[in-house]
This record gives sequence, structure tokens and C-alpha cells, in this order.
Amino acid sequence: TQSTRPQRLLNAVQKNATRGDPRSVVKAIDDFCRHKEWAMNVGDEKGCILDSVVSEINPAAVLELGTYCGYSTVRIARLLPPHAKLITLEFNPDFAAIARQVIAWAGLEEKVQLVEGASGDWIPKMKEQFGITTFDLVFLDHWKDRYLPDTKLMEECGLLRKGSVLLADNVICPGTPDYLEYIRSSPRYESRYFKSHLEYTKVEDGLEKSVFKG
Ligand code: SAM
Ligand code: MG
Repeated sequence: TQSTRPQRLLNAVQKNATRGDPRSVVKAIDDFCRHKEWAMNVGDEKGCILDSVVSEINPAAVLELGTYCGYSTVRIARLLPPHAKLITLEFNPDFAAIARQVIAWAGLEEKVQLVEGASGDWIPKMKEQFGITTFDLVFLDHWKDRYLPDTKLMEECGLLRKGSVLLADNVICPGTPDYLEYIRSSPRYESRYFKSHLEYTKVEDGLEKSVFKG
């Protein structure tokens, strides 16, 4: 029978993590990816930066672009206050199916709405479909050439308010040069780089945190 990396990652969660315990789910995935098979999760090192940004903002509405197996989804959702919502977008149905099970194993399905489809199609429908006014935090971690067009689309659709935070992964590796150039030179953002390493490696990578000024 065929087995894919996301399926093997899910098996590791179901074997090694405790149901309803998000920390154990995060740990099971990190152990699997560090010791068995690398995978494109934000990972434990950059994950600590992500955690501190989420905790600092204490967001009521979060958008994640790029769910993959739900690793960062679990990381973010476990830190959200009661009644907060995380919408996460994934256009690969096989990844989405795995992520639903990972999120459920962590016991976080009440806080998370996993939406299947392409960011460019869903961002313009966020307000009418999900009753969103604006997002307090957006985690950008989908294909790297989509960071800039989707940021402009979120601006146009009125999904950002003064103080909304964009947190972008992989700005160095694989890199998002057009996005970085835009976000660092635009007077509408206050932007800062957090140096770290590509998930499960020693290669430099980092997160860019950009506050929308309105
Ligand atoms: N955020 C995840 C984590 O840290 O655990 C990792 C996400 S992975 C790096 C990127 C994911 O984005 C892939 O699963 C890919 O299928 C998805 N993706 C890429 N472009 C997309 C788009 N335009 N709309 C929706 N999903 C997209
Ligand atoms: Mg990433």
C-alpha cells in the first residue's frame, strides 16, 4: 500500500501523542521531522517565535495561509483565548484531510476552521462567508510567490486594521524577496526580522513581523 509523508506524520501523532494534548502533538511532529523525515512545518525553533507573537497579540481572529499537516495550526490554536477563531487555508485536499485529523487529535477543532481552496479565491470572500471584520494576526506560510499578491489582496478587501500583524515564515529560505522589499519599504507597515533557522536544520531563515499602520 502507498504511504505518503503526511500519512506517516499523522501515524506518528496517533502513536506518540496524547489525544486532547496539543503540546504532545507538536512534540510528536517535531520528533518525527527531526529524526525520521524532514517536513515543511514551521518547526520548533521558529515555532517559539511564532508562539511569542501569538501570546503578545492575544488575537481574537487569526488567518493562516498554508495549513499543510496542521502543525502551525495546532501551535497557534493552543494559545488562543476562549472564543477566538483561527481560519486556515489549504488548497491540497490530501494535506487538508491529514490536517483535520491532526487538529482533531489535539482537541482543537472548535477553535479552527480549515478551509479548502486557494488563498486568492478565498481572501475576497472572507467577510461574507465567515463574518470576519478584520484579522488581528495573519500567518503567511504558503507558496512564497503568493505572499505579496495576497497581502495586497487582504489590504484591498479591508481585512487589515490599524495594528493588524502579518507574520511571514521563510523570508530568507526559500525566501520571499518581493514581499520583503514591499513590506520593509512601505510606510503603511512597521517591520522587523526575527533571525532563526530553517525548520529542523542549521540553515539561516527567519520570520518577518509587520504591523499594519492603517
Ligand atoms: N504552516 C504549515 C506549518 O508550519 O505547519 C506549513 C505550510 S507549508 C510550508 C505550505 C502549504 O501551503 C502547502 O501545504 C501548500 O499546499 C499550501 N499552499 C500553497 N499555496 C497555497 C495557496 N495559494 N492557497 C492555499 N494553500 C496553499
Ligand atoms: Mg514555512
